[in-house]
Amino acid sequence: MLRRATPEERKIYYLEEWKPEDLPTFITDSLEMREFGFDYDGSGPRDRYNRFTSVADLEVFLRERAPFSVYNSISYYNEPEKRKGWIKAELVFDIDAKEMAIKTCCLEGQVCEECLENAKKISMEITGILRKNLGLKNIFHVYSGRGYHIRVFDDDLMEQGSEVRAEIFEYVRDRVYTPPELIINPPSIISNMMRETIEKLISSGTRNLENIPGIGFKKSRELYERKDEILDDLDSNKITILKEVLGEKLTESFLNYLYKAQIAILDAKVTVDIKRILRLPSSLHSTVSMKCMLIKDLKSFSPFRDAVPRFMKEKS
Ligand SMILES: [Zn+2]
Repeated sequence: MLRRATPEERKIYYLEEWKPEDLPTFITDSLEMREFGFDYDGSGPRDRYNRFTSVADLEVFLRERAPFSVYNSISYYNEPEKRKGWIKAELVFDIDAKEMAIKTCCLEGQVCEECLENAKKISMEITGILRKNLGLKNIFHVYSGRGYHIRVFDDDLMEQGSEVRAEIFEYVRDRVYTPPELIINPPSIISNMMRETIEKLISSGTRNLENIPGIGFKKSRELYERKDEILDDLDSNKITILKEVLGEKLTESFLNYLYKAQIAILDAKVTVDIKRILRLPSSLHSTVSMKCMLIKDLKSFSPFRDAVPRFMKEKS
């Protein structure tokens, strides 16, 4: 279902489907202060340092050029056309479903409905932490075309540099995915995402387990056979049975492997970089022919229902 859009389809999208009203107000309100970047052929956003002073100008440009991809800076500048005079930047989390390393649904490098559902779950976890633990309020969700962007606009935060952003990133990451040392040295609470991954892996049979370094065929069978006990254990934040099967050392490397593989879905660079560009909500993600769009309600959002452009629906 996910395939590259043709130049004709891009043209149809920007002429017949794209509307200025689909641009979020957080873009239109600050349009003049944002840098825009364009990719015309799928080789990356090579056309940078663009500034638009009105939505009408942007509209004319998009309809005429029908770019492969459109990006805007998360930063506000006095001179966006020179990328100078940095004022502030959104805080961003990028959850890319393509980077999901541990999965039992589709092949590596591919993205399916289950991958996207998982990315949504992670986005909801992160949003919960930003709201409850960090007290942030001004949070928007964007479907990126193949994952999710969380964009935060709380005033005092937007002026912070990379160091504070790196701290926030680590804080959030380690609450979404409990670091192995905290699981091994209790008392600790094993995070939902960490527990779910272990559950998914162990319940899916031996094939996925076998490929994990150090596990092998025999241990993977044992894990599968004792899966109910292991999962009961995890529910009470314990790994006693896991340790019984794998031994101390292998348990540690197993959890390390899981942790590292899982956090790959969160791109730290995007959160820390204060001059990043992100896909423009309302634009077309031409590699997969899906719309990048502002989400009104993350919980009820469904990419294959809500983010499929008309030219794809008409063909299927
Ligand atoms: Zn998948």
